Amino acid sequence: MRKRLIAGNWKMNMLRGEAAELARGVVESTRRLAGKVDIILAPPFTALDAVGKELQGTGIMLGAQNVFWEERGAFTGEISPGMLADSGCSWVIVGHSERRRILGETDEMVRMKLAASLKAGLKVIVCVGETLEERDRGHTVKVVEGQVVKALTGTGISDPGGLVIAYEPVWAIGTGRHATPAEAEFVQSAIREIAGNILGDSAARIRIVYGGSVNEENIRDLLAEPDIDGALVGGASLRAESMASIVETAGEQ
Ligand code: PEP
Repeated sequence: MRKRLIAGNWKMNMLRGEAAELARGVVESTRRLAGKVDIILAPPFTALDAVGKELQGTGIMLGAQNVFWEERGAFTGEISPGMLADSGCSWVIVGHSERRRILGETDEMVRMKLAASLKAGLKVIVCVGETLEERDRGHTVKVVEGQVVKALTGTGISDPGGLVIAYEPVWAIGTGRHATPAEAEFVQSAIREIAGNILGDSAARIRIVYGGSVNEENIRDLLAEPDIDGALVGGASLRAESMASIVETAGEQ
C-alpha cells in the first residue's frame, strides 16, 4: 500500500512571518496525522528557513517550488539542489504548469531538474498535465505521456518513494474547476502504465497525486480512486484549517 501524500504549494505567497504562522497552524492541526500521511509544505524560497524552523521535529517535510539543474556557477538568480538540501528541503516540485507556461520551462529542463535533484538526494514531485485546448481535442493522454516519458527517461530512479508524479490538468489549477475522480483516475492509471514502461515494476510503488482545485469538499472522492495517492494543493493549502481537513481525510484509510 502506498502511503498517501499531501503537499501544499504556497506559490508566490507569504512573507516570512506569515509563512511561519501558517506553518505553525498546519503543525498544530495535523499533529495526530504526521506519521500516517506524508505532509509537505512548499513555501517560497525566502520563507524556507522560517518554515523549516517550525517544522523541525514534527515529521512534516519541507519542499521547494523550483530548482536549477547545475550545482554551482554563473547562473544568476538560480538555486541548486544542494542549496535546497542545505536549507532543510527534502522535497522539490519540478515542472509546475505555471513555470512551463509563464517561464517557458521545457520538458528537457524538467528532465534536467529531476535528474539533478535526485542525484543530490532530494525527493521530487514532477508535475504534468494538459491544457484545456489539448483536452478538448482529446489529446490528454498523449500530452501527459510525452511529458512523463521526457521527464523520466534516463534519470536513473533508484528509490520509487522519492518520486511523485502530480497529474495537474492546467485547466483545473486555481480555477475552482477540478477533474472528476473518474477523469483523474483514467489519466493517472495511464500514467502508472507509462511509468511502468520506463521504470519496470517499481512504477507500482510510485505515488501519483492529483492537483487542481483540490479542497476539503472534493478530496474524499478523489482519494477513493485506486491510482490517486494524494494531492498537490495550491489555494486551499494557504489556510491551515483547509490543509488540516484535507490531511485528515487522507489519513482515513
Ligand atoms: C497547484 O498549484 O499545484 C494547484 C493545484 O493549485 P490549486 O489547488 O489552487 O488549483
